[in-house]
Amino acid sequence: MSTAFKNKKITVMGLGLFGGGVGVARFLVKQGAHVTVTDLRSAAELSQSIKQLEGMPITYKLGGHYDEDFINADMVIVNPAIPKNSKFLQIARSHHIPLQTEINIFFTLCPAPIIGITGSNGKSTTTTLTGLILQQTLRKTWIGGNIGRSLLADIEGIKPSDIVVLELSSFQLDGLHDLQKSPHISVLTNISPNHLDRHPNMEDYIRAKKAIVLYQKRGDYAVLNYDDPELRKWEQDCKGNVLWYSTKYPQKNGVYINNNDMVLCVNGQQIQRSCVDQIKIPGDHNLHNILAASCAAFIMGAQEDHIHKVVTSFGGLEHRLEFVREVKGVCFFNDSKATTPESAIAAITAFKKPVILIAGGYDKGSSFEEFARVCAGNTKAVILIGKTAGKIEELVIKNKGLRERPLVKTPNTFQEAFQRACALAQSGDVVVLSPACASYDMFVNYEERGRQFKDMVHAL
Ligand code: ADP
Repeated sequence: MSTAFKNKKITVMGLGLFGGGVGVARFLVKQGAHVTVTDLRSAAELSQSIKQLEGMPITYKLGGHYDEDFINADMVIVNPAIPKNSKFLQIARSHHIPLQTEINIFFTLCPAPIIGITGSNGKSTTTTLTGLILQQTLRKTWIGGNIGRSLLADIEGIKPSDIVVLELSSFQLDGLHDLQKSPHISVLTNISPNHLDRHPNMEDYIRAKKAIVLYQKRGDYAVLNYDDPELRKWEQDCKGNVLWYSTKYPQKNGVYINNNDMVLCVNGQQIQRSCVDQIKIPGDHNLHNILAASCAAFIMGAQEDHIHKVVTSFGGLEHRLEFVREVKGVCFFNDSKATTPESAIAAITAFKKPVILIAGGYDKGSSFEEFARVCAGNTKAVILIGKTAGKIEELVIKNKGLRERPLVKTPNTFQEAFQRACALAQSGDVVVLSPACASYDMFVNYEERGRQFKDMVHAL
């Protein structure tokens, strides 16, 4: 193991609540570094993360950043959520303090092959599916990254014969450009405008994402969604082998759907097996996730039976189009993780039954044009909450024209929105919380929003 961190004064900028900050702090303490953790949020707001570091020799500077931690340091570890133009990063740069990220350190030290998974939507579902399939094999498989678990603190336990499956966000990938490293197998789910409150424009977002293929080597693989117009253009940027997946078109190299069968054509092998009618997670988007995961796992050595077992038994992740309960013929689904218009469109179009949608929330700068069009054409009612409610209401009304449906309501609270939805629902309908927006204007995070929704459903 590297000794580059021993006795070094290291500032961890941004502890956060998603596991990356905790992972890197724990790793650095183990390596014998003198660690200072600094975050704009208070100890109370970060208590969940601080608890995981209890008993470790860490200096905390919370509720703000201080110049001295960016001047008197041997290294600063930057959380992917920190804007590149942060005043404090500029201070560190002007004092020639090296900047690092948790993911870059992991990529440098990881002895096992890495499957990296990114995209605007479907990352966690595809990462979990890939990991579960590979866990059926004899090789130990680690699942982590943006999914909420840093693997850095486990690095000493990871062997060259293991497999690592990492979910990667655009911010984490941005850092990989500096390291000029990409995963051995890269999986792209789809590309649509996302996080445009943080990336200056769509080009910058795509540039960040491209780090996942740009530094691959000849024997590496990129698994790309053929049905995504942006990804179809990526072949020329790929340095390794390209495999395509599609639910619509047959592929010579890759995986596709033929009626009820999944057909895998990889490295001259062809495998065909019926499975579609046994898949439990709804929607064409989930079929895409299944194809992507199956293809990546197959390249890494999973066999037909390993794939079949997982794709036909996986019931989905919490807060991702999660079935909650049926009450008097009305089915309730919690899709609180749908924080983009595209993921909410995927939810609305996954159902054949009339949909009563609860949506709206924090404004990430997304365009709601297409989402409003889909709402206008495919829902019975749209109940809107949060910052974006007015904006979406206007667009849905414009799109529905003179038609009676959908009914559009903008109540004041989440509880009121739920009551409205219940009052409108009849046997055979589905009520879906699929906000198309982040939750920060009304909730701590999407998990809290989803849990509140489920509590109300269970209280019915
Ligand atoms: P991510 O990690 O990229 O946020 P998740 O798997 O957590 O993706 O799913 C987030 C939301 O996106 C959920 O609402 C889910 O139903 C929806 N979703 C999942 N896969 C896709 C996909 N391939 N395309 C569009 N939406 C998707």
